[in-house]
Amino acid sequence: MDDYGPAFALVCVGSGGGPLESDLSGYLLKPYKEEWDAGIIALEAGSGQGTLHRLLQQEPDLFKTQRSATQTYSASEIYTFVRCFLITHAHLDHISSLVISTGSFGGPRKRVYGHKEMLEDLEGIYNWRAWPNLASYDENDEDFKLLYSPLVPNGKYHTVFPDISVQIVPINHGTTDVGPYSSSAFFIRSDSHPSKREFLFFGDVEPDSITSATPKIIDVWRKAAPMIPNTLSTIFIECSWPSGRPDDMLHGHLSPEHLRDELVVLATEIYHSRRSSSGGGSRPKRKRQKRNPSVSADELRGLLTGVRIYIIHCKEQSTQVEGPPTRELIVGQVRALVQTAGLGAEILSAEQGMYITF
Ligand SMILES: [Zn+2]
Ligand SMILES: [Zn+2]
Repeated sequence: MDDYGPAFALVCVGSGGGPLESDLSGYLLKPYKEEWDAGIIALEAGSGQGTLHRLLQQEPDLFKTQRSATQTYSASEIYTFVRCFLITHAHLDHISSLVISTGSFGGPRKRVYGHKEMLEDLEGIYNWRAWPNLASYDENDEDFKLLYSPLVPNGKYHTVFPDISVQIVPINHGTTDVGPYSSSAFFIRSDSHPSKREFLFFGDVEPDSITSATPKIIDVWRKAAPMIPNTLSTIFIECSWPSGRPDDMLHGHLSPEHLRDELVVLATEIYHSRRSSSGGGSRPKRKRQKRNPSVSADELRGLLTGVRIYIIHCKEQSTQVEGPPTRELIVGQVRALVQTAGLGAEILSAEQGMYITF
């Protein structure tokens, strides 16, 4: 990473992958240098206002500001500052607090960004039956609390917030009775940071090795590789299951072995990207392949040095009532596998109530 200091600050309202409704995907993001009351991006909205209310009782200083160390906010005030929601897919563990709280949101009308299918799924909820209709596509419908705002996967960044822009990339999240199901990865960029720093946030995702006919994570790694580690050094990615879960029981998610394999693919892309950029302009452009040739473990050694990988969306095993949370087990397993592979990435856990800067 460069020495310009952090570009983003994030509070983790919830980071679990179920079954506890009190700890579901929900992150509040702002530019590091701005105050919370200047505007917030809500990244996923599984857990929200209710969970935050409880967190603030334990830690009232969670949103303390640079301006005043004594400033505290209520959960509903914090959600008043939210300008937009960025949602990877419309599974309930990513949208339930958004739906429950929509009617009571204060502050200006909020945009909901995501792929077209996700917005259509939300329409199926705001349909006067499952829930009143509180959202529309019309900029002039001021009475509707939410403004549906499609993000098109066209390789471009879209400004979603002053000085923050987002590129959406579709990823696989399992197959259903009605066909393949798509989630999203977001490249989130600070346009005001001197190095235009960005980070990568994955929604729920299935390993490419399972959907080898239509791999999608490779598209994300290809975009990320040339930016690592100087422009992009922080990745949030799920690992829902502990080690040893059979492939036919993954239900569109990653396990530690699959995550390690995906990181090996990322390191391979970095290897090829650095080689082609240092090889000068005379080499003929490689024909676009779905996957670059693999390289030896020795050549991949240390290629993810400087990258911090936050593990999210671990599923707690409901049968396990005593002992450490399953999350600790999963993060430990990923860390050991990545260490053995010698990739050099730092494996961290994003936990409820954390304040993270990057
Ligand atoms: Zn999901
Ligand atoms: Zn989920």
